[in-house]
Amino acid sequence: MADSPTMGQCDCGAISGPLGVCVDYYHGILAEEQADPQMYRWHAPVVCAYLLQHPSRAHEKYLDGQFRQLQLYMDKGLDALLRVAAHQVARNRRGARPSSDMAPLAAYAPLPPGGSPKHFRATFCGLPFREGSFVSDGHLAYGHRIETIVEATVESWRSVQD
Ligand SMILES: [Zn+2]
Repeated sequence: MADSPTMGQCDCGAISGPLGVCVDYYHGILAEEQADPQMYRWHAPVVCAYLLQHPSRAHEKYLDGQFRQLQLYMDKGLDALLRVAAHQVARNRRGARPSSDMAPLAAYAPLPPGGSPKHFRATFCGLPFREGSFVSDGHLAYGHRIETIVEATVESWRSVQD
């Protein structure tokens, strides 16, 4: 209860959970999904949402594309996002310039200027971790929780504009 105040709060504004702050949850997810192809399907939204909730850990030039990827996910679903991500990987392998990969994402709003949000209604350190797993109650339930984090991320970024 009397922990040092800097230990208890993540830089996204969330109060840390049993595993620690969001980076501890993020690393836990990345480790678990490596051995679980079904869980790995949510890799792209996990990475994009994590970086947009913690932009000081991200490369600023990629945040706009990551913000658009989350909007595509909310609009068209996970399969559509996976197709775009696969397309981007293929383009990168051929050495195309990153800007040429933006075509499927061009329809979506750019990252709002004016600084990063200070609060998100759903965060990584709020994810349940039971029996040593993030998917102990099934992949669908896990996917819904990631979706909620994605929605919260886009919602908060949109609100800094106002
Ligand atoms: Zn955080």
